Amino acid sequence: MDASPLKKLEQLEFSLDSVTDLSSSPSASPSSPAVATFSCVDGVTELRFLQSDSTHCFTFDLASAQLFKLGTVQFICVSDDNSEEERSFSKGVNIKFGSEKDSKEFCDSFEEWRKDALVHGSSTVSASKSKFDDKIEASSAKMYFHYYGQLLHQQNMLQDYVRTGTYYAAVMENRSDFAGRVVVDVGAGSGILSMFAAQAGAKHVYAVEASEMAEYARKLIAGNPLFADRITVIKGKVEDIELPEKADILISEPMGTLLVNERMLESYVIARDRFMSPNGKMFPTVGRIHMAPFSDEFLFIEMANKALFWQQQNYYGVDLTPLFGSAHQGYFSQPVVDAFDPRLLVAPPTFHTIDFTQMKEEDFYEIDIPLKFTSSVCTRVHGLACWFDVLFDGSTVQRWLTTAPGAPTTHWYQIRCVLAQPIYVMAGQEITGRLHLVAHSAQSYTIDLTLSAKMWGPGASQGGILQSSTGKFDLKEPYYRMSQPQAYPAAQEPPLPPQPQLNPQQDIQIQSDDFEEELLQEPAQNASTTQL
Ligand code: SAH
Repeated sequence: MDASPLKKLEQLEFSLDSVTDLSSSPSASPSSPAVATFSCVDGVTELRFLQSDSTHCFTFDLASAQLFKLGTVQFICVSDDNSEEERSFSKGVNIKFGSEKDSKEFCDSFEEWRKDALVHGSSTVSASKSKFDDKIEASSAKMYFHYYGQLLHQQNMLQDYVRTGTYYAAVMENRSDFAGRVVVDVGAGSGILSMFAAQAGAKHVYAVEASEMAEYARKLIAGNPLFADRITVIKGKVEDIELPEKADILISEPMGTLLVNERMLESYVIARDRFMSPNGKMFPTVGRIHMAPFSDEFLFIEMANKALFWQQQNYYGVDLTPLFGSAHQGYFSQPVVDAFDPRLLVAPPTFHTIDFTQMKEEDFYEIDIPLKFTSSVCTRVHGLACWFDVLFDGSTVQRWLTTAPGAPTTHWYQIRCVLAQPIYVMAGQEITGRLHLVAHSAQSYTIDLTLSAKMWGPGASQGGILQSSTGKFDLKEPYYRMSQPQAYPAAQEPPLPPQPQLNPQQDIQIQSDDFEEELLQEPAQNASTTQL
């Protein structure tokens, strides 16, 4: 539903006993009988008070106006005046009706017309620069919403059956959290979660979507008459739009790789603060970033080999080596996105919890995670593997959506930060470090990773860090490795078989042929080797 019956009404009038301007002295604007008119002109829904002698007229954009009841027949109507962007003041009038009946009818109409104004958008609201625009580069936002405006990308998410199926199950198993409730779908995309909520008996769902996908969502919802009259699609950012009522529950799918990529979780908590009633629920409720050190000789060599191109001294007569260091560093600043065998993990994982019901928006700007692991094996650690899960903390059933290695693969896969300098550990040795995430204006994060191997065994308390390795990564520039052949051990083989032992100096000089031969053992997947 997106056209309310009120749109057909062009104008509605009420007689008032008096209207007084709150911002000027009584002598400058004496109270006098007036007519209040609700009208919708060029998509802007207004409330106008015209004094009967036509001396004063007060106009309010209903999308930003508020009504406060002072008594049975008396109100204050106030709103922000954004006509001057730099210096904006609130304006207000004191209004009085002749009877309680008039007063009540006016009050009901105010709510109806205001609801209509909010759903159909208002020039005042959309014209103001939003919190989103303040922190996100316009070019990044443009590309981001262009991407989500395309059906193929929504289809990609819909076809992640682990994702979509888990949302469906979480909603259906917790019908009581939706039945008869007001729901806000934060970043509705195709509107799928809104329709799940409606199927679970929601009283009304506001499907908020900033991209052009909002139009497709309208079309899809209109074609599903069972839910259509209980869903209102609102095109706009959750940071900017207004809703006519508070929500009992928010539903959203705001997770990016490493949980926080795309910075949509910030929009999710902004929506919480703006639209959710105090005891409302959030689906999902909490998220966890899981981390463990890994050892993956194949991946390490593959990445080091990419930069070898720049070691050529005679490339059509040109010496490429001046750029070798930069290219090497460039490859090692890309987090690797793929599904890996969990046997590559060398220590039990730890996790960092993010409670969506409690996190403040600013808490997402910088996330600092201290790391501490105990290696289960003697190996060479190549970096940190990360994945996430989210919890739907329903009143009936608690359901987790996990993206863990070894679990059914999702479109998020897992992410690995590979260190240019691996560290060597013994079984039982402690690995400490830090994962430091700093948000940037391109809707992603800069990642600083440090892993250190601590002294172990008798006398360890006297010793400190033995080796330390650091890396800097841009989460916005991942290396998608899904099409790569993955020559991981078959299930029956023992975990962590002997791996090629190379020292770091050898790594970057090694000829790729040996490894290609190994990798070519999986013929079905060898067609693409360096797709980014
Ligand atoms: N809920 C859908 C789509 C999830 S993808 C599903 O589960 O299939 C996230 C969607 O949120 C995208 O369509 C994106 O355009 C939208 N989005 C991201 N940030 C937003 C914001 N600040 N306000 C409104 N929509 C937003």
